[in-house]
Amino acid sequence: MDAAKYIWMNGKFVAWDDAKVHVLSHTLHYGNGVIEGTKTYKTDKGYAIFRLKDHTARLKESAKMVLIDIPYSVEELNKAQIELIRKNEFTGDNVYIRPFAFLGYGVMGVYHKNAPVETVLAAWEWGAYLGEEGMQKGIKLKIVSMTRPANTSNMGKAKAVANYLNSQMAKYEAIDCGYEEALLLDDQGYVAEASGASFFMVKNGVLITPPNDNSLESITQKTVIEIAVDMGIKVERRRLSREDVYTADEAFLTGTAAEITPVRIVDAREIGCGARGDMTEKLQSAYFDIVFGRNKKYEHYLTYI
Ligand code: PMP
Repeated sequence: MDAAKYIWMNGKFVAWDDAKVHVLSHTLHYGNGVIEGTKTYKTDKGYAIFRLKDHTARLKESAKMVLIDIPYSVEELNKAQIELIRKNEFTGDNVYIRPFAFLGYGVMGVYHKNAPVETVLAAWEWGAYLGEEGMQKGIKLKIVSMTRPANTSNMGKAKAVANYLNSQMAKYEAIDCGYEEALLLDDQGYVAEASGASFFMVKNGVLITPPNDNSLESITQKTVIEIAVDMGIKVERRRLSREDVYTADEAFLTGTAAEITPVRIVDAREIGCGARGDMTEKLQSAYFDIVFGRNKKYEHYLTYI
């Protein structure tokens, strides 16, 4: 990972190497914390953060779900993220921001009400999450043995660090089997989401993505649906089975880090022609136009630094 200069920690900027925590921090032991993943792109008019308000609002909502009280408003956190990008004097095209809140040092035992809340904003330069080649040619996706926990036993809509144990096991299994990313089904056998991205497929010209019944309320998924509708593409949100996925004409993953990553193989079955599909390429190109500030209609999603 590429270190940057400063990290914002509990209201102050500290040097990257000084942003440390105690080994007895509550979250390290009991796993309650929340994260965001927000992306900044270098446009012709300088850096712009994509959908900043939506990401920060989701951080606060995730925190509310898991009973962590972040002592900063969305506005304060947005201002601090803008300042963070300024102060770090980045030069690359892609900067990832990781806002997070966790429980610090001072209390042991599962009951967390009295554990101190630490709020942090970090940013670093980070390129294509699933590799440059994957963006062009597509990746190999495996439907893994892990499923998303049932809605009765976790909070899948919170971007909670605890949910990423499931994602990590899924991703490890996929890579260990020679694939690049994991697709998780829900406890009923329908597609939920990938380990860190949402799933889309195309069948007979229709773009289909599952509802967020058992997945993160993804911001990129919303953006892609908006772009597709704008392009006159028919969009359906419905449950997808394993068989639907295997017989898709095209498939791709979306996420702030994954952006729009084509899928060429799922479980040894070629998807469509086994390469990036036409609709995937069109949506990918429209998405990059938007995040890099080349489409006026979507300027309201950009916060210029
Ligand atoms: N699902 C999971 C589990 C994720 O980690 C992510 C990445 N944040 C997504 C979906 C995509 O969400 P977004 O488009 O808001 O980045």
